[in-house]
Amino acid sequence: MVRVRFAPSPTGPLHIGGVRTALYNYLFARQQGGKMILRIEDTDQTRFVPGAEQYIIEALDWLGIKFDEGVHIGGPFGPYRQSDRKPLYRQYAEQLLNDGWAYYAFDRPEALEAKRKEYEAQKKTFQYDCTTRMGMENSLSLGMDEAKRRIEAGEQYVVRFKFPENIDIMVHDLIRGDVTMNSRLLDDKVLFKSDGMPTYHLANIVDDHLMEITHVIRGEEWLPSAPLHVMLYKAFGWQAPQFAHLPLLLKPEGNGKLSKRDGDRLGFPVFPLEWHDPKSGEVSSGYREQGYRPEAVVNMLALMGWNPGKREGDNGANPVYQELMSMDELIKLFSIEHISKSGAKFNVEKAKWFNHEYMQMLDDSTVADLFMPQLKEHGIEADREYVEKVCGMMKERISFPSELWDTCSYFFVAPTEYNEKDVAKRWTPDMHIHMAKVIEILNTVPFEHDALHKAILDDYIAANSLNTGKVMNSLRIAVVGRTVGPDMITLILTIGKDETIRRVERAIQTIKQ
Ligand code: GLU
Repeated sequence: MVRVRFAPSPTGPLHIGGVRTALYNYLFARQQGGKMILRIEDTDQTRFVPGAEQYIIEALDWLGIKFDEGVHIGGPFGPYRQSDRKPLYRQYAEQLLNDGWAYYAFDRPEALEAKRKEYEAQKKTFQYDCTTRMGMENSLSLGMDEAKRRIEAGEQYVVRFKFPENIDIMVHDLIRGDVTMNSRLLDDKVLFKSDGMPTYHLANIVDDHLMEITHVIRGEEWLPSAPLHVMLYKAFGWQAPQFAHLPLLLKPEGNGKLSKRDGDRLGFPVFPLEWHDPKSGEVSSGYREQGYRPEAVVNMLALMGWNPGKREGDNGANPVYQELMSMDELIKLFSIEHISKSGAKFNVEKAKWFNHEYMQMLDDSTVADLFMPQLKEHGIEADREYVEKVCGMMKERISFPSELWDTCSYFFVAPTEYNEKDVAKRWTPDMHIHMAKVIEILNTVPFEHDALHKAILDDYIAANSLNTGKVMNSLRIAVVGRTVGPDMITLILTIGKDETIRRVERAIQTIKQ
């Protein structure tokens, strides 16, 4: 039975890269008929940010990433918040101490800092490891009796992992293959502190074991920790889960990890939901508030570092893979083998494109739901059926709900000004005569598409050898205020006869050329 976990630390809003990690875990779990767990890793109390846990839960819920067990829904392996599991970790630290896999260390922060400086002065980097540990204050250099005495006297300590000297540690990664690292290069990481709190490394391994996690799918930034984790499993005598370290999400330019600053600079969110920083009061934009559809965000993220392989039946001539995929399709197609090794560049235009595509999939009534509040804001009490009709006609022109008002306002309010450039280009002095003729046609011809089309375009414009572009665009200027919009006859039919006539009359009176 596959069991995966998403294990964020509540240190702030969830970065979009973290969302992708959660998504890949979810897709894998669902596809394998396994379970998906949300565990909150809050052992580092100094980095705890109030509201972050709630934010993570809300964000993943918005995106449709669902959990089978977790901090918010409970489950048979709870509790799922590490601070609630605090009493559990000490015995595991003790087990490692007893078995010679760990030792007590008493070095004060000032002493460690002094060591670092001393090494720096010699252009070297200090590492607490098998080559330096005997020169430090710990139960190996001082002896266990002295260590026990100090602990009883109330001295602060940490428990460090004792890497064996000079062994090769192999991490088998499902994406990267075998990664080998020599223990000489690794530092004796802190596992436990005298305040009774484990560090990330100990808590993570103990919990993954107790929660029977089978696959650890997480960001590449954790790959350097993987040898320690593999050794911890060995030290405990537990079977390690399988590892898959996901490639980084990169800046649009491709140089370095995607940061909030890139988002601010290029105008796109790097967080799923808007975030109000409780300390600074700073507000960071979110995909949800920017009008992104959750399905679009999921689809876009799924393809940042993974692809479904060539289209079925593809003969190789067209190696492009399918891009639009629902959550169900993603679950069906997902595979760890198709996750790429190299980082994925963030592409703002592509994000917008995805949203545009998903906006098109919404039915007219849903688009109308998004538009109604905007109309209200502009003081317009519109007929629901009419709004739906407008949305149906216009949604292909928008990528975000926020564009609805700008794109469609003329369906609800007559233009009060006319675009100067358009007027200068199209509205020749004879337009007054042609527009008066259009009013006459509207008043006399049956108000339906074919009849109006024939009367205006064939019987008047073509029969009198007029310039179709000029006349129809002038009519558009009169009705819309500028030369954009859908098919002119359809537009007239939607706005209505009386309103169209009123607008054309007003244009005749107002536009001076
Ligand atoms: N708490 C870690 C984080 O915030 C989890 C890393 C892991 O998945 O092992 O990313």
